[in-house]
This record gives sequence, C-alpha cells and structure tokens, in this order.
Amino acid sequence: MQPTGRLHVGNLEGALRNWVALQNDYHMYCCIVDWHSLTAEFGDPSELKENVFQMAVDFIAAGLDPAKCAIFVQSEVKEHAELHLLFSMLISVPTLTRLPTYRERKDELDSYGFLGYPVLQAADICIYNAHKVPVGKDQEKHIWLANDLAKRFNNLYGPTLVEPEALFTKVPLILGSDRRKMSKSLNNDIAITATEAETAKKIMSFFTDEKKIRKGDPGNPDMCPVFMLHKVYTPEAEEEIAPPCRTGELGCVDCKKRLATNLNANLAALREKRAELVKKRGYVWDVLRDGSERARERARGVMEAVRTAMKISYRDNE
Ligand code: SF4
Repeated sequence: MQPTGRLHVGNLEGALRNWVALQNDYHMYCCIVDWHSLTAEFGDPSELKENVFQMAVDFIAAGLDPAKCAIFVQSEVKEHAELHLLFSMLISVPTLTRLPTYRERKDELDSYGFLGYPVLQAADICIYNAHKVPVGKDQEKHIWLANDLAKRFNNLYGPTLVEPEALFTKVPLILGSDRRKMSKSLNNDIAITATEAETAKKIMSFFTDEKKIRKGDPGNPDMCPVFMLHKVYTPEAEEEIAPPCRTGELGCVDCKKRLATNLNANLAALREKRAELVKKRGYVWDVLRDGSERARERARGVMEAVRTAMKISYRDNE
C-alpha cells in the first residue's frame, strides 16, 4: 500500500480488513511501498517519512499483528530494485504504454519511473516468491503482469520464481461523498483519523439518490453511496434501511445520522488504539525495522536464486 498519509474507510474495508483476516492462514508480507509514492511526489518527498510512520500505525491499529506478518518499508529491502531492473529487460515499452494506468496519467506523469512502476510492482511480489496476492478484481491486471514476468523468467532461465496468482477478496464497493471511488486526492473520503464530529459532518455532505429530495420521496438505495456504507456498518441494512428508503418513510438526514453513529461506533476501538500507538513512536519504528529484517532475509534468498539461474552470481568460483 502506498503511504498517502491518511487512510480512509475505503482503504480499510477494501484491503486492510482482508489482510487482518488472512494473517492467521498465510505467511504474509505487508509492504509500505514508499518508492511507488515517489513516482508522483518526487519533487517534494519531505512528508514521506511521516506518512510511512502513520501508515504503519494504521496497519497495527487495524489489527495486523507484527508477530504474525512482516510489516515493512519497500526501500529498506533493496532487492526490490534489483529484481525490478532485471524484470525491465523482459518486457517491451509498448506493453507498458498500453496499460490503462499509464494511459490515464501519462500527460501529468511522463517519467521513466512512472512508466516502469508496474514492473516494480511485479518485483515487489516476486521478490518474496509470493504464491497469492490479496486484491480486488480491479487489480487483476497488475497480478497478471507479475505472473507473466515470472513465467518469462522461468522459461528463459529455468524454474526459479513462483508464478503468483491473485487471491480475490470480497471488496465492498465504497464510494466517496461525490459518488466517485473514495480517494484522498478527490477529498471525497472519510479519514480513519477523523474525529466523530468530523466523520458525521462528512457523511452529511454525501450525495444521495438525486431523485430523493425530501423525506417522503421514494428513494433508490442502490444508487446511493450512503447505503453502500450502511451495508458495511449497519448489520441489518437490507432490512432496516433499504425498505423505508424506498417507501420514503426514511429521510436522508436521519439515514445519514444513523450511518454516522454506526460508523463511529465501529471505528472507535481502532481510533483508540491508533491514538495510543502514535505516542509510541519507538515501538512503531521497531516494528518496521524488524519487519524489514524478516523481509530482507527472504528477498535475499530469492535474489540469490535469480542470479544463479541467470548465471550472473559472481560469488562462486565456477
Ligand atoms: S434514505 Fe438513505 S439510502 Fe435512501 S437515498 Fe437517502 S441517504 Fe440514501
């Protein structure tokens, strides 16, 4: 996950909750990808360190257990960069320029680093010989690229790398206040760090079904981002929110107030833990250091196998 400095409920429900659930069944590596942030923020990286810290706090507060999974920073494991370089020989420039993520932003980000970031992503995965990558359906293409690069490598140099696969997780659709995908950069998000009052205020600003102007008007909850959040935070949303919305009996103001209450109650423990963790800076940096050590150990082994397969290992005499 990229250290953006402020996690929102879309990140929490779309990724983190799944990771927390998976940590009991898988040997997991949870990487804070600071190099990826630099593709857009190269001009001013001054906030990156604090953003990394805050993201580690979010990870732990959400329930990731540093004893069960390695929580670490990408740039602390230099092997990511080495495998990225080698992978970059295995893919053509036109393949990269055809990727939708490149086409969407090529006018604002035209650097070599931005063009190659999917290759770095593939290295982020393959450097751990990861079998599965927990993602939503919308990220399927990225995993496909990692799988393809691992396959190409194996075909050229012999079986060395695990060919990773997506572990599709059920991701609830979380839209922001303007009905677009929730995003910090669009300022349509509900930040995890927001106070209860800020959260309630933000929810009040959400668009709803545009045909429902006042209480009494029938609404369509399936067109409403507030209802999508209710489905996550209100246990009986389908029975208690959708029907009175449809008949008009429930007004949008009351509906939003109810969501704010439920969402704040749900996040209370996480926010409390978060507030404690930000005071324990030394502990959080220790977690990252320890995670980086564990990640490096595994990455080092994979990189050695890669060099040996390519016959570019210069530490033996053969
Ligand atoms: S009542 Fe609730 S679910 Fe229905 S349109 Fe209004 S905010 Fe959305």
